[in-house]
Amino acid sequence: MKLIEHWIGGKHLTGSGERRADVYDPALGEVQATVALAEPADVDAGVAAARDAFQTWGTTSLTQRSRLMFRFRDLLERYEDDLAKVVSSEHGKVLEDARGEVVRGREVVEFVCGIPQLLKGEYSDSVSGGVDSYSFRQPLGVCAGITPFNFPVMVPLWMHPVAIACGNTFVLKPSERDPGASDLVASLYAEAGLPDGVFNVVHGDKVAVDAVLDHPDIAAISFVGSTPIARYVHSRASANGKRVQALGGAKNHAVVMPDADLDFAADHLAAAGYGSAGQRCMAISAVVAVGPSADALVDKLRERTQAITVGPGSEAASQMGPVVTEGARDRITGYIDAGEAGGAAVVVDGRGLSVAGHEDGFFIGPTLLDNVTPQMSVYTDEIFGPVLIVLRVPTLEAAIELVNANPYGNGTTVFTHSGEVARSFSRQVSVGMIGVNVPIPVPMAYHSFGGWKDSLFGDHHVHGPEGVAFYTQAKVVTNRWPHVSEEALAHLNFPTAR
Ligand code: NAD
Repeated sequence: MKLIEHWIGGKHLTGSGERRADVYDPALGEVQATVALAEPADVDAGVAAARDAFQTWGTTSLTQRSRLMFRFRDLLERYEDDLAKVVSSEHGKVLEDARGEVVRGREVVEFVCGIPQLLKGEYSDSVSGGVDSYSFRQPLGVCAGITPFNFPVMVPLWMHPVAIACGNTFVLKPSERDPGASDLVASLYAEAGLPDGVFNVVHGDKVAVDAVLDHPDIAAISFVGSTPIARYVHSRASANGKRVQALGGAKNHAVVMPDADLDFAADHLAAAGYGSAGQRCMAISAVVAVGPSADALVDKLRERTQAITVGPGSEAASQMGPVVTEGARDRITGYIDAGEAGGAAVVVDGRGLSVAGHEDGFFIGPTLLDNVTPQMSVYTDEIFGPVLIVLRVPTLEAAIELVNANPYGNGTTVFTHSGEVARSFSRQVSVGMIGVNVPIPVPMAYHSFGGWKDSLFGDHHVHGPEGVAFYTQAKVVTNRWPHVSEEALAHLNFPTAR
């Protein structure tokens, strides 16, 4: 059985302990590899390698860092298929979808190829007599990333290229459920010429995470995962004096106005609800049907939901793969049971789906629930599976109230033909990322990604300008090269411009 090892200081290491986790092929329901689970000593080793590498990487020129990122970017393109295959086999998502996440991750690398421009700083000539000022940003040191299972390539790529291009070194703790892609990414960095120790991968579970959160030599932590763990990571690492951005879970609403093109909306809602089996933090999970078009919308959603082909991610005909684990499938089934028992109408039922030749796979079919109310657990909880729920409200105001009363604030979208509706919706919702007739409004790499409320703890969003700000700290130099005059002489008053 293949063992996935840590990558520390440019070497594969088994680690100091004996603990291992199984890595499944969710389409077959079989274990395909095991992954080493780090003990605190292994986290120490990863941080020590990163700390040593920072001594030189932190002063490497912008030109060198930029060129490294250009080479890394090309390798990510060359190995796109290999990365997608690993993602699909460990996560379960279909190959084309896996390729999509590799492309979206690569775009972050393309953004940081322009790191010389991004770190240009500012200069003010003559802020006072004979005095000039300039500001610039410097790296923090060793940064760490803790990432979820659902985007094993893209989410880490939101973090480490930005951190490394800014002059930091990095320790990644990927999800133990699909750790294989991080190994391949590490080898691509090495092939691109990144010095040993700048990028390290330490696999593990809570033991490794806690060691990262408490490590005195880690300056900043980026986390993406579920809300309870995001809250925990933020509070524990902040209490340890670290800079932290912790992105949490989501319940993304799509508000469909009566003037919307219902066919267009139904096509996009089904894609956004069931793509990747609903295991996306930007998946649409709650459809809010406004006014009289609800029945027609549900009919159209039923047609689209029933037409989806479910099968192993490796087969070209599959539009939706399995969910990641048996536990995830049982949890999702439990939510559908609870919704039905609470009075929701099960319009399309994905429970008990069996895929021929893959009877032990973790499959559950796309499920559509109508007449859901805000009190039901299918609404209050993040299901993180292929379950689309429909709530009915009378007006736009009621829809906005619903969105804003929800504790999550990651993404939301409105389907409408009215610019006025789109504008007031965009301005009034307490949500970080908003789509107008765009179901999954994931910002491009040169904007920043992040939610509000329980979807993000910390001040900075990831990648884009906020990512660069997160991984650097500002300095302002006030300069005088005196030709000593009467005015320039020191005095005890607080310095003011003259
Ligand atoms: P998760 O919270 O279970 O795990 C995330 C990371 O935390 C993993 O590396 C895991 O090893 C670690 N972890 C898990 N339990 C822990 C514990 N008790 N103590 C310390 N560390 C722990 O999340 P997941 O199931 O891997 O991913 C799905 C979740 O991630 C969903 O809630 C989804 O919405 C969220 N997500 C959010 C975003 C975003 O941008 N906001 C993006 C992707 C995924």
